[in-house]
Amino acid sequence: MLRKSVSPLLSQGIRQAIPFLSSRAGVSLSFSSSSHILNPSAPPAGQTNEHNPDSPPTATISIDRSGLYNPSDHFHKPSADSELVKHLKSIIKFRGGPISIAEYMEEVLTNPNCGFYINKDVFGAGGDFVTSPEVSQMFGEMVGVWTVCLWEQLGRPAKVNLVELGPGRGTLMADLLRGSSKFVDFSKSLDIHLVECSPTLQKLQYNTLKCIDEAISGDNTAKRITTTLTGAPILWHADLEEVPSGLPTIIIAHEFYDALPIHQFQRTSSGWTEKVVDLSDDSCSFRFVLSPQPTPASLLFLRKRCQWADKEEIAKLEQIEVCPKAIEVTQQIAKRISADGGGALIIDYGKNEIISDSLQAIRKHKFVNILDDPGSADLSAYVDFTAIRRSAEEASAEIISVYGPITQSQLLGSLGINFRVEALLQNCTEEQAEPLRAGYWRLVGDGEAPFWEGTEEQKPIGVGLRYLAMAIVNKNQGIPVPFE
Ligand code: SAH
Repeated sequence: MLRKSVSPLLSQGIRQAIPFLSSRAGVSLSFSSSSHILNPSAPPAGQTNEHNPDSPPTATISIDRSGLYNPSDHFHKPSADSELVKHLKSIIKFRGGPISIAEYMEEVLTNPNCGFYINKDVFGAGGDFVTSPEVSQMFGEMVGVWTVCLWEQLGRPAKVNLVELGPGRGTLMADLLRGSSKFVDFSKSLDIHLVECSPTLQKLQYNTLKCIDEAISGDNTAKRITTTLTGAPILWHADLEEVPSGLPTIIIAHEFYDALPIHQFQRTSSGWTEKVVDLSDDSCSFRFVLSPQPTPASLLFLRKRCQWADKEEIAKLEQIEVCPKAIEVTQQIAKRISADGGGALIIDYGKNEIISDSLQAIRKHKFVNILDDPGSADLSAYVDFTAIRRSAEEASAEIISVYGPITQSQLLGSLGINFRVEALLQNCTEEQAEPLRAGYWRLVGDGEAPFWEGTEEQKPIGVGLRYLAMAIVNKNQGIPVPFE
């Protein structure tokens, strides 16, 4: 492992960027602050920004994660078992045998009492990792441009559902709403639905979106929540199925799919077996073992995924990951869009092919062992965009079309991020310009920023080619920008 730097200088309350993932062979992680740089004189059509006088300091962490992949089986166990560790051990003991990695991942991330996402803000410098909306306001603004364009293609409906899956801190939605607020008819049309499993993050989203509880006129007891950013009503849901149907629907999913639980399968001399999580002999820690016989998941999900792949593609692989939850969510999206019209934009790190072995754990911006102190680190896996395409088509090929994936760089470039950054640069101080340029590079660049004159540790790492974007759209809406 080659760790370049870890800066303790990151301050709270500003946008921090970002752990991004690269190829399996080596992964890079970097983050730094970037501000809302604001009040451009020439914003792109319809884009507005709120003035933020604060000019945050710049700080960057860059970590070359080469060699972090597939950490060794050795890890030290925590001194006392956490509530989640006790829970996982009791499941394994009660079952009398190991659990799938998918079940382990689901418990670790979203157990309603003690899952990783449930009780704390995991984002930013004080948290465990950072995402694109936290790097720069431009990310949410560009997703806003995409959303407004689709709304236009829908025929400017008076009412639409705008759904975000896994909104994190609510930053993407806030920037989308601010950036598109000049499109008054669009803003007025929105019923916002946030699909979020974490009560803590729901509260953060409420605050980020500057929500208020409003009395409903004519009813003294009933209340609704609206965002004061635009006046749009907001509802929270545990899953997409809870979002009311009947309105055209636009769905955004950024870094949602990579948190969905995956199964891992391994090739052995006796065929494909499932890698599962068991207790060590002394029951003190967890370990991976191979299932001795086919599991329901291998019979169902591995078989299904292999049907979507070439024999040659499979032949090259020693390990395969399959995410049944991604298939299920995609089919729900496709069915909703088929029935109600609209489209979905999915942005995540991943590949347009079968994923072999990508599961990883990040705690406090560093890679850690997947089985070490579960619940204290994020778990995520590469998104299999081929499986998303095939799932959507399987659910509703006649009525929906799937576009992409294209790179994040192509997506944001076509949506106008270059014009936006120039407009912002013309209207900011020199102090604000540096984090703005750095944030821009992180979103659309590829690798280390060539223009960087600051310290090596703070050098922005672009992930524009590592993140991919895919759209699923009702055929009635035509081809979405910029997938033409
Ligand atoms: N989109 C945000 C956050 C990404 S992290 C961003 O880019 O900053 C993943 C988000 O999905 C978190 O908000 C997490 O709580 C939520 N999440 C993860 N699994 C979920 C599930 N099964 N159901 C609902 N929300 C989930």
